[in-house]
Amino acid sequence: MKIRIRGLEFSYNSIPALKKVTIDIHESEMVAIVGPNGSGKSTLLKCIDRILKPKKGVILINGKDIKDFNRIEIARTIGYVPQSVKQFFPATVFEVVLMGRRPYLGWRCSRKDIEKVFDVLKTLNIENISMRDFNELSGGQQQKVLIARALAQEPEILLLDEPTANLDIKHQLEVMEIIRRIVRKNGITAIVAIHDLNLASRYADRIVMMKDGKVFAAGTPEDVLTSANIESVYDVKVRIIKLSGRLYVIPLDPSKSSIDRL
Ligand code: ADP
Ligand code: MG
Repeated sequence: MKIRIRGLEFSYNSIPALKKVTIDIHESEMVAIVGPNGSGKSTLLKCIDRILKPKKGVILINGKDIKDFNRIEIARTIGYVPQSVKQFFPATVFEVVLMGRRPYLGWRCSRKDIEKVFDVLKTLNIENISMRDFNELSGGQQQKVLIARALAQEPEILLLDEPTANLDIKHQLEVMEIIRRIVRKNGITAIVAIHDLNLASRYADRIVMMKDGKVFAAGTPEDVLTSANIESVYDVKVRIIKLSGRLYVIPLDPSKSSIDRL
């Protein structure tokens, strides 16, 4: 699905967090949102999922204003994976993922719902923990369960807020591979807020770089991940190298003056 965001503005108690954000997201692409802490990545994802209601601007999904979607329509269209969930009421992994089927459930769940749950547990390679209590899992396992719950919704748009934050390097790659495979196979659109510029460069079709609630740069990894952009946005000097067609961002030693400022 195509997403058009035009002039989006959001404030928390009159402190602006998003300022005139305009972004176009094409069908079946994986877009990474990068930017320093506090640059507005999570706020942007929450506005797209209507958890937050922007005070100005529009978000169009295939031409339809998100304001005109009811809650069920949003849940059938958008799967949102929050950064973390502190504590769930006691529930097994199976039950948490089944909650993702809620937009489709009548009074009871059908065979199709159960099959879908097993299907996504398998996709994420977590069938073996399906009967474990969600609260007793490691952060990384919980993250995968939350992704499974969003996939069980069969959304056309997947929003992920730092899905790799709690994961070791193997699981970071695994989760990003899974997301990209789903984007390619099911033709869905994924928007991923992520800190790791190298993961963004490796997996995203396009990158949106944010700074102070504004879009600083947007385009292909090559367009966006330049040393000049990264220095302006993060105040870190880097070198960009290309290996086997992929870009890698290597931070250089901080200069003495920037350490003195710490
Ligand atoms: P990011 O996800 O890029 O780290 P956020 O979208 O969380 O950034 O935050 C953007 C800005 O909004 C920050 O200045 C942050 O302090 C502020 N902010 C985020 N959530 C809240 C909140 N619930 N109440 C007040 N201010 C908030
Ligand atoms: Mg955030």
